[in-house]
Amino acid sequence: MKHKIFHGLRWVIMTLSLLFLAFGIRLTGKWLHTTDLPVFSCPFNTDQVIHSYCYYLSHLNKLVEYHSVKYAITYIIIFIILAIVFGRVFCGFICPMGYLQDIVWKIRDILHIEGFSRKEKFVESIKTARYLVLFVFLSITFFGFDFCSICPASITTQSIAGFKQVINVGFIFGIILMILGFFMRRFWCNICPLGYLVGLFYKISLFRIKKDCTACTKCRACYEACPMKIKEIYTDDDKDVTKTECIFCGECIKKCPEDKALSISIGNIKIYTSSRKDFEEYHK
Ligand code: SF4
Ligand code: SF4
Ligand code: SF4
Repeated sequence: MKHKIFHGLRWVIMTLSLLFLAFGIRLTGKWLHTTDLPVFSCPFNTDQVIHSYCYYLSHLNKLVEYHSVKYAITYIIIFIILAIVFGRVFCGFICPMGYLQDIVWKIRDILHIEGFSRKEKFVESIKTARYLVLFVFLSITFFGFDFCSICPASITTQSIAGFKQVINVGFIFGIILMILGFFMRRFWCNICPLGYLVGLFYKISLFRIKKDCTACTKCRACYEACPMKIKEIYTDDDKDVTKTECIFCGECIKKCPEDKALSISIGNIKIYTSSRKDFEEYHK
């Protein structure tokens, strides 16, 4: 697949996904309102987050309180199966919060405003913050608090869908994160607890990032382009360089100047591969 096709397709899917998740309920009617969807989008359900997967992950006590143990087990199994099959492709192609961050980053690009380059120490500290946010996400409900009230994804997607918002801590937090996302690509995704949980199954997930170490010149262009700042993509000498943070956005492949050095594959089938010709055409 060529650069233009892969990245064009990604933007089309992300746009359709946002429209569907934000406005789908109004177009499809009530029957979907009771459907359990593995989405990270509160406005899809008129009764707010009750059926969203992330709601129960951040309200684990309610999973059993509202439902039977059988339901809770089915829920966890389905979550794991989806995470294995699609993994963080969800983050690169479906999640509205990821898309909104890509949009603000694109606006910055069009306006020719310099983004902040993330130094390695900063990247490391973000990784530490991610575990803290994950802990809060999973446990805050046991202390009587509601993660949804400060969740930036909930606030931004609900605002787009036309839900009235009050200006509170969560709202301000959402605005701050979008500003950070303007200067640092996919800032929130680097600490997002849902993305991290989905990525945990990357070792057995179908989607892979493969590397041909004989073609790689270790130029580092892939690392510089990666919104998730995955250093191993250029330092590792493995054939499979898939990591838990990878959202399969393909930015590393777009910027890789070497023929067949990097590719995204589904199992063993390569669907998008770096190419010198395509690189020169795209960047001329
Ligand atoms: S990391 Fe979180 S906010 Fe980012 S795309 Fe994935 S689920 Fe959405
Ligand atoms: S951009 Fe391509 S050639 Fe350069 S380090 Fe990454 S994989 Fe290797
Ligand atoms: S490794 Fe490549 S595909 Fe994965 S997040 Fe980084 S740039 Fe995107």
